[in-house]
Amino acid sequence: MNWISEFVTPKIKALMEKKGEHENGEVLWLKCNGCNRMVYIKELNENNNVCIHCNHHFPLPAERRFSIMFDDGEFSNVEIVQIKDDPLKFRDSKKYVDRLKDARKKTKLEDACSIGSGMIEGRPAVIFVMDFSFMGGSMGLSVGKSFCKAVQLAMNREAAFITFTASGGARMQEGMFSLMQMASTVACLTMLKEKHLPFINVLTHPTTGGVLASFAMLGDINIAEPKAVIGFAGARVIEKTLKQTLPDNFQKSEFLMDHGMIDLVLERKKSKKQSEQSLSC
Ligand SMILES: [Zn+2]
Repeated sequence: MNWISEFVTPKIKALMEKKGEHENGEVLWLKCNGCNRMVYIKELNENNNVCIHCNHHFPLPAERRFSIMFDDGEFSNVEIVQIKDDPLKFRDSKKYVDRLKDARKKTKLEDACSIGSGMIEGRPAVIFVMDFSFMGGSMGLSVGKSFCKAVQLAMNREAAFITFTASGGARMQEGMFSLMQMASTVACLTMLKEKHLPFINVLTHPTTGGVLASFAMLGDINIAEPKAVIGFAGARVIEKTLKQTLPDNFQKSEFLMDHGMIDLVLERKKSKKQSEQSLSC
């Protein structure tokens, strides 16, 4: 291996061009968090947002998830539940309503989740995807109620229910309303279980806090994308509390797999193939 071209040059490039090159205001390159190389965004998109050099899994927007998972990329977008903004009139360094406005402008989403409905291998399925770029994928009233709407839709269609989680936890700006969603999402899943419909959860990077502590670990099958951070409290907090050095891969998918917390670590490129195999059994 030529270590100058393979290792040193990309590192220097990454330092020089942290935000990538621009052409007509468009970002063309991105620094990979996995290998520190500059990756061409077009190439990254063609590879479903997985680095072609090191297999690092970047976040994947809901629309792309739906296209990958549903047969022939055909699905219908289901409106998420919208609630009155800012029920607690919350303000920290900034008003919550302003944070919501900024997040909506930046992500072009109404809140931190999307629902898609379609068929997988000829069988009905409903998919619920969380988006970390919308206020850290936090779960407030809208996300919690949309989750229940998606479960209800799965029950009406007698469909499989699949979630892709990415979240920092409950949305602190909605206080108790947000914590209540932990209970309500779990209660919805109980109804799904009573109908004997399958629930498959795919944990993507990162899935933490109140989302992990509620529905995200309740899948009949729990799958994780490679090297995703999955945990309740942050590693630093745990390290300080235990006064012990934690292993390097602590709270990573592979670590959880080794310790029996999840069923499978699955690369994104295999998700459709695997789901085809499992559903056609
Ligand atoms: Zn990479």
